[in-house]
Amino acid sequence: MIVLKNAEEIERMRVSALMVSKTLGMLAAEIKPGVTPLRLDKLAEAFIRDHGGIPGFLGMYDFPNTLCTSINEQVVHGIPNDKPLEEGDIISIDCGVLYDEYYGDHAYTFPVGAIDPAVKKLLDTTKASLYEGIAAMKRGNRVGDIGYAIQRYCEAEGYGVVRELVGHGLGKQLHEDPQVPNYGKRGSGKLLQDGMVLAIEPMINLGTHRVRQLSDGWSIITGDKKASAHFEHDVALVEGRPVVLSTFDYIYDALGLPKHDPIFV
Ligand code: MG
Ligand code: MG
Repeated sequence: MIVLKNAEEIERMRVSALMVSKTLGMLAAEIKPGVTPLRLDKLAEAFIRDHGGIPGFLGMYDFPNTLCTSINEQVVHGIPNDKPLEEGDIISIDCGVLYDEYYGDHAYTFPVGAIDPAVKKLLDTTKASLYEGIAAMKRGNRVGDIGYAIQRYCEAEGYGVVRELVGHGLGKQLHEDPQVPNYGKRGSGKLLQDGMVLAIEPMINLGTHRVRQLSDGWSIITGDKKASAHFEHDVALVEGRPVVLSTFDYIYDALGLPKHDPIFV
């Protein structure tokens, strides 16, 4: 069942989404060689609680931490550990917050120091594909149009689009209907409607689209051990157009990067 949100609920969801955005912005300044994912996890948990939120992933389906930290060939659902980050790594950080009854859910893949140009291109392309997907979230389109846009953009670069994990509706539950695959056929799936709030989250691999799960029961890694990237925004459909509730601007501020993402209002 798809739960549509009214304007007041969407504004409450924006607050939750921005709390995750600020958390990732805080972490952006901490990501460097030598830092451990577990340290980042503790910082995130303290930050969220200091702002009156509840870590959304902690305990969800028995997940043990505040962050999912997925390094290099890990796609998503990596469990924070005490292995220090190294120059040239990438780390995908996915974070959820529960605040005022609503979830925010937001992810970004960070380079650790200088990285391989081919991996940098994967990150840039995956992030750009997120905005391709967001642009397809508009009146008259269907859920499949979002996945189609992401898949077409990424496969044009020869990348693998992960099939087994998908985006989702978001609200009082972390995972609501509909599922939002990062692949799809034009004009397929549920019709998009005003009041839908979707977590759109391309997971894109440098090589094969195939993935497998590690024996920890959580971490998903690429089938060929090549790098994978993950970016996620929370997006509401308002008057037929996508409104992005989360923002990477806090990350860009922390890293001294220009704010150049498309704005949908
Ligand atoms: Mg997420
Ligand atoms: Mg999500």
